[in-house]
Amino acid sequence: MEIAKKRIGIVGGGQLGKMMILEAKRLGLYITVLDPAADCPSSSICDKLIVANLNDLSGYTELSKHADVITYEWENISVPALEKLEKGGHIIYPSVSSLRTIQNKYVQNAALKKAGIPVPKFALVTNTEEIREYGKPENFGYPLMLKTTSGGYDGKGVAPVKTEDDVDDAFHQLGSGIKELMVEEFVDFQKEISVIACRGIKGEKAVYPVAENTHTNTILDTTVVPADISEEASNKAKEIADKVMSVFEGVGTFCTEMFLAKDGEIYVNEVAPRPHNSGHYTIEGCFANQFENHIRAILGLPFGDTGLICPAVMVNLLGESDGKAKLLGLEEAYNDPNVQVHIYGKSESKVGRKMGHYTVVGESAKDTIKRALELKKIVRIIGE
Ligand code: ADP
Repeated sequence: MEIAKKRIGIVGGGQLGKMMILEAKRLGLYITVLDPAADCPSSSICDKLIVANLNDLSGYTELSKHADVITYEWENISVPALEKLEKGGHIIYPSVSSLRTIQNKYVQNAALKKAGIPVPKFALVTNTEEIREYGKPENFGYPLMLKTTSGGYDGKGVAPVKTEDDVDDAFHQLGSGIKELMVEEFVDFQKEISVIACRGIKGEKAVYPVAENTHTNTILDTTVVPADISEEASNKAKEIADKVMSVFEGVGTFCTEMFLAKDGEIYVNEVAPRPHNSGHYTIEGCFANQFENHIRAILGLPFGDTGLICPAVMVNLLGESDGKAKLLGLEEAYNDPNVQVHIYGKSESKVGRKMGHYTVVGESAKDTIKRALELKKIVRIIGE
């Protein structure tokens, strides 16, 4: 079949899906999206939208009727439904087996550890006594991190346990063990970094530069590229991201989030089997962005260049208040020709909701960071 006649199905119609579609449309592909919300960000640009609960098989079955290749923009989706489609001969990238492994943080960490990739020490726990046991100095010690093994995102499903006094609260906060929980050794990191990488159907790979991420209240706030780290650390992070893709035998774009510890060691925090918020800088910063290379990967096409054209800084636009979304400061931002603003099209602003982002590019990393930070006071999204 001609590439240009291919039909792609995307599970999830959020901003990541929308940005995938923008790239797919350049090749004239036909896109069907499955999402529970009729007004999801992708709804304005996809060819067909199937509105259905992401836990119901029916929506996935309908999606498969309109797609030659199925992909997803979100990992908390139904593995049993996708497995059924895969068994029925439908092509799904990244594979359902890699999604199943990645969906559970414990299983994911175990797979990475088995492959010799450094991860913080981790263990399953079912009650507060076990958490206290891991808090002992001869074990992980405090602080430690308590996490739900599945369903978490943007720090939901993560509770830091600073001292023994926090154990009960953290356990309660994460649902008192109703969901499976794990403890993780706390990594005393100097920086949080991530690497976007792509793997093709024949196993070929393309790796993007290392991004440096700042989180506020466990939600990504700013991504700066290139990361201000040594060449040695940068090479090590890229090697790890490359190896991660071989572990999961993934086809598509993957993001490996890592900690650069104060002692110089690098540990993988988590892997996302999809384009990632920390890779949005690639739209302006690289010749071929993470969404384009994802589409190329799942169609079996060669990759576009992942090299950085110039320093880039991405700042997330989170809702500052609840209500009808209102964007402030666009004109002022565009007075600088090196700024691009992306608005996802969510009509309702909620405090902390990802509503859009902007990217600033420039010749010098220092000036680009300065400009991006200045704009934070100007480009904002509020609810009215
Ligand atoms: P989510 O999947 O919800 O984004 P993460 O596992 O990435 O959750 O954790 C959210 C944040 O918590 C991380 O960005 C990091 O700042 C912090 N964190 C998570 N695990 C650890 C750890 N083992 N050591 C230190 N900080 C951690």
